[in-house]
Amino acid sequence: MAKAIPSRSENYSEWYNELIKKADLAENSAVRGCMVIKPYGFSIWEKMQRALDDMFKETGHSNAYFPLFIPKSYLSKEASHVEGFAKECAVVTHYRLKNAEDGSGVIVDPEAKLEEELIVRPTSETVIWSTYRNWIQSYRDLPLLINQWANVVRWEMRTRIFLRTAEFLWQEGHTAHATADEAMDETRQMLDVYARFAEEWMAMPVIRGAKTPNERFAGAEDTLCIEAMMQDGKALQAGTSHFLGQNFAKAFEVQFLTKENKLDYVWGTSWGVSTRLMGALIMAHSDDDGLVLPPKLAPIQVVIVPIYKNDEQLAQLTAKVKPVMQELRKLGITVKFDDSDANKPGWKFAEYELRGVPVRLAMGMRDLENETVEVARRDLKTKETVALEGIVGHIQSLLDDIQKTIYQKALQFREANMFRVDTYDEFKEQIEKGGFILAHWDGTSETEDAIKEETKATIRCIPLDAPEEEGQCIYTGKPSNRRVVFARAY
Ligand code: AMP
Repeated sequence: MAKAIPSRSENYSEWYNELIKKADLAENSAVRGCMVIKPYGFSIWEKMQRALDDMFKETGHSNAYFPLFIPKSYLSKEASHVEGFAKECAVVTHYRLKNAEDGSGVIVDPEAKLEEELIVRPTSETVIWSTYRNWIQSYRDLPLLINQWANVVRWEMRTRIFLRTAEFLWQEGHTAHATADEAMDETRQMLDVYARFAEEWMAMPVIRGAKTPNERFAGAEDTLCIEAMMQDGKALQAGTSHFLGQNFAKAFEVQFLTKENKLDYVWGTSWGVSTRLMGALIMAHSDDDGLVLPPKLAPIQVVIVPIYKNDEQLAQLTAKVKPVMQELRKLGITVKFDDSDANKPGWKFAEYELRGVPVRLAMGMRDLENETVEVARRDLKTKETVALEGIVGHIQSLLDDIQKTIYQKALQFREANMFRVDTYDEFKEQIEKGGFILAHWDGTSETEDAIKEETKATIRCIPLDAPEEEGQCIYTGKPSNRRVVFARAY
């Protein structure tokens, strides 16, 4: 039988693209860098959204919505912000089309030129802070804790489905605080929320760290991030949380009366995760047979396939399985009963494997006689015959076990691919093989740039929990007091 998708070792990037197509998650659209997210893919994204949204609400945030278009003048109010985003902005200049006089089709009507050009939001700090100016007058209006779910556009030159697209879906939190400490606490808190989501829901271990000034968000004083390792040993930045200082408050004149009756600028944060997490989920766990989904995010957690020859057998199997399904559903477990006769059981097995359904039950006439069912787990590809009695509890603990096992596997993979390196020669050799490198760095942008130029490796982050350790920069030999994480990244 021909393999459905190329193997990871053959061609990792083809494996990824084909898997997304074959598992029916998404497809590229006519506009370069944009994607159509298909129902199966979107239901995973919805599960991610729900879990994250609950976590945002638990930490006191409310959702709101701000416009897609940003007046060009807003974007340029914060100098480093505009500099960072200028190169990838989509700009609206006109508001009407008309028929060309020579009959060649529709053209932009030159008379319908906008007085002020509009930017399609690449991120919403500017439009939000221009609004906060009207919402914040005194310390009583603070903290202001807002999130929005939206799409944004960044005209990326090198795109890859889910991981880096020109338009993507995300959430962006934008908070305002009375003190720097409070804003910094919020920045850290939201990084923790992201790390918890990555680890507990996506089963994907992450390193929490700070970005170097080179990699910082345009307009932030500090950028914290979570970094994950993909199965090819490359890094993926999976979420960011920014301490904005008073930069946007100053740019948009957002001042408040303190308890002491003094005027001061507000302190800000912003934080976001995007549909990039879909790519992360796929790349972190899936195998050569298809998706491997952590049960907590799987759209279908259990599929039941009856094996029958005629309608009578199907009726008997259905009657047996029905109460099991009902009990599973009562527990909030998503079950699909696939009794369609369009495809053979073998075909169905392969299909659900491809789609990453964590648990598959198969039941034939012999099982019916013996009061048993065949239970297969997607992650380890093991099968066992289990008594029907107590099956619901068995499935429940199996789903928990799969969630944990997937996480442990990813963690072990990462641990096995983290290397402490002390010389530049070793560094160059290791970076070719992949993985994360823990090495000393002298703290300068020049050194970071030179290493990137020579090896394509970047500093992914300065880990928050890195112990202090005296050492010498691998590139310049200058003193350093902690190791940072280097890797090639998506
Ligand atoms: P930023 O506003 O640059 O800190 O990015 C916020 C989040 O969006 C981060 O988690 C990024 O990983 C993600 N992100 C940034 N650019 C893209 C892109 N082109 N496609 C998908 N996700 C992105």
